[in-house]
Amino acid sequence: MTSTNTGGATVYGYPRQGANRQLKKATEAYWAGRTDADTLLSAARDLRLRRLVELRDAGLDEIPSNDFSLYDHVLDTAWLVGAIPRRHAVVGEGLDRYFAMARGAADVPPLEMTKWFDTNYHYLVPELGPDTEFTLDPTKPLTEFAEALEHGILTRPVVLGPISFLLLAKDPTGTSEPLALLDRLLPLYIDLLGQLRAAGAEWVQLDEPALVTDQPAAVLERVAETYAALAAERVRPKILVASYFDRLGDALPVLADSPVEGLAIDFTGPAVANLEHLAAIGGVPGKRLVAGVVNGRNIWAADLAAALTTLDTLYGLAGSLDVSASCSLLHVPLDVTLERDLHPEIAGWLAFARQKVAEVVTLRVGLAEGRAAIAEALGDNADRLASRVGSPIVRVPEVRDRAVTDADLHRASPYEKRRQAQQARLALPDLPTTTIGSFPQTSELRKARAELRAGRLSDEAYEDAMRAEIRSVIAAQEELGIDVLVHGEPERNDMVQYFAEQLAGFVATRHGWVQSYGTRYVRPPIIAGDVSRPAPMTVEWSTYAASLTPRPVKGMLTGPVTMLAWSFVRDDQPEAETARQVALALRDEVADLESAGIAVIQVDEPALRETLPLRQADRAAYLEWAVTSFTLATSGVRDETQIHTHMCYAEFGDVLQAIIDMDADVISLEAARSNMAIVTDLTAAAYPNEVGPGVWDIHSPRVPSVEEIIGHLRTATASFPANRLWVNPDCGLKTRGYPEVHATLANLVTATAAVRSDH
Ligand code: GLN
Ligand code: ZN
Repeated sequence: MTSTNTGGATVYGYPRQGANRQLKKATEAYWAGRTDADTLLSAARDLRLRRLVELRDAGLDEIPSNDFSLYDHVLDTAWLVGAIPRRHAVVGEGLDRYFAMARGAADVPPLEMTKWFDTNYHYLVPELGPDTEFTLDPTKPLTEFAEALEHGILTRPVVLGPISFLLLAKDPTGTSEPLALLDRLLPLYIDLLGQLRAAGAEWVQLDEPALVTDQPAAVLERVAETYAALAAERVRPKILVASYFDRLGDALPVLADSPVEGLAIDFTGPAVANLEHLAAIGGVPGKRLVAGVVNGRNIWAADLAAALTTLDTLYGLAGSLDVSASCSLLHVPLDVTLERDLHPEIAGWLAFARQKVAEVVTLRVGLAEGRAAIAEALGDNADRLASRVGSPIVRVPEVRDRAVTDADLHRASPYEKRRQAQQARLALPDLPTTTIGSFPQTSELRKARAELRAGRLSDEAYEDAMRAEIRSVIAAQEELGIDVLVHGEPERNDMVQYFAEQLAGFVATRHGWVQSYGTRYVRPPIIAGDVSRPAPMTVEWSTYAASLTPRPVKGMLTGPVTMLAWSFVRDDQPEAETARQVALALRDEVADLESAGIAVIQVDEPALRETLPLRQADRAAYLEWAVTSFTLATSGVRDETQIHTHMCYAEFGDVLQAIIDMDADVISLEAARSNMAIVTDLTAAAYPNEVGPGVWDIHSPRVPSVEEIIGHLRTATASFPANRLWVNPDCGLKTRGYPEVHATLANLVTATAAVRSDH
């Protein structure tokens, strides 16, 4: 048996923006030209130093550095190794070049942005190709290490590991595999490690989250070679390889056998499987094990007693054992105690970043000194957990007991029969035109909402303003000659928050900001208890809009999967059950819309694919509940009521079958940028219902010409029957301006008329 030293308490990263979102403000002021680079950099340094002191005073034994970023840590890594695309390398210098990669500059598009694993954080995708020449610029990690050391704090620099960096990168031409550049990249990591050691670093953390996704044996071989090569260097800090978000699977024995000194492993959520697996391979004797036992990406107070039990199991499996959160605390808000309006009982169930650090420190004390040393904390924690279990907010018998039969999960009739009933009712032409829901969120609309919140605008005046907007949106669509209208969603701040505010079981925070990308922060609602719908949510707006026009107006809802994906979800029951509750609430809303005479109802599910589990093996179970919750929400309607859904992406891959199973009468999708490629995929999959492949890429204000739209439509009609195709933009128009919306929709209607006459 190896002897284990209990080590310290640590975390891998911490929210970057500061308690008052100072970083956002300083960065945006710099972008707007109101301040200079020095002002921004000194604001950033100030934030980092405060954070260091805060984490030290909270009792962490080892604090990370270089987890901070002015925009994104993957972008920082690209910068670190000089992976700067040619188009950015000619833009300004320093900060301006960095921000050009992040946000673009005049005529120069930025790097592509995509989701960081299955979180709601977005990173910038490094662009690499066969002629990428790496050059090391270690300024950031060295500076951040040195400034902490000056304050007497020996930090552990955190750097994205070489394997994950390459696996997350892309060759924009699609002709080479970035991983092929590994041999070219490794000398830079060796150089970096040497320089960090020279600066005094004892440990470095190399993050390899890509190893929790399915990787072929060939990649795992490269992992083994890489860490053998890095560890073979004499002048370097000790290496801690960190992974998080899911289980390591086949990568675990590879890392365990590698000569690195430490592993940081997630033991929460789907990654709990790491525990048994680690025991099965005999642990990592002689290595430092950093145990992520406090979930770093949810907002729930940890079960400290259970975490201690996990730590007890791990104790015999490693050379030394540290306690940590499971991943960077970047993914959670800063501090629950800032929330003054939260129900105090609910607040007691929550742990944001500051509270999670305290949990980690408590667990370290418990591990080192025994449970008696933390008896008070354990007692308090047990009380909070018990109050959550027993709370009538959490468990509402009427919601839990609501029966769902098999018949509730399917439309009464098959699509072909529904189609006839819908045609008889709606009498739409071939290639009906529509939009995805939102019209521009003008500054007047946002102002009205702010005034309402500030109490300067009465509810009645606010509603009047919204109705006026709906009138103008309906009139504009009638004038343009759109076939199926929308009310424009002026009353919605956000497609999830709007419903979360009206559903029982969801709670909102005031300061719960989480970085989505760059300076964009979101405040996800929290699903704290059983979900139900106290009253109709959208019926008044939709019926008002419908009353203004003889044309059909779509009712507009956000689907259950998306409601979960963009919220913090409860951890005390399977997600499938939470989704079922949201679905039932939406089912009632759908029924009310139908009874109010709304003939077309769209239930958006833009998050369906982004929440796909990281491991292939978990996907079927996810898709099963995702599809079931959609059909539960939508299938209670009569044949002649048309159900639409919408998703914002063009690559479906593994979820195509799920989309067929959702059995929406019509699905609208992003398609313009890929020149309708999705239509071919749907044809190949024999997609049986109707499709609206987007003909306008709404991500830019560019107005596509009539000819361009005709081109898209002819491409679509070449492989898909015109009488099952719809014509619409890629997504909602809320971020667009009215000039391009009017111009494009006019072109869209003209193009449609031209293509209709072909048939
Ligand atoms: N109905 C929503 C809108 O138009 C859909 C948004 C989305 O797909 N993300 O804004
Ligand atoms: Zn969309």
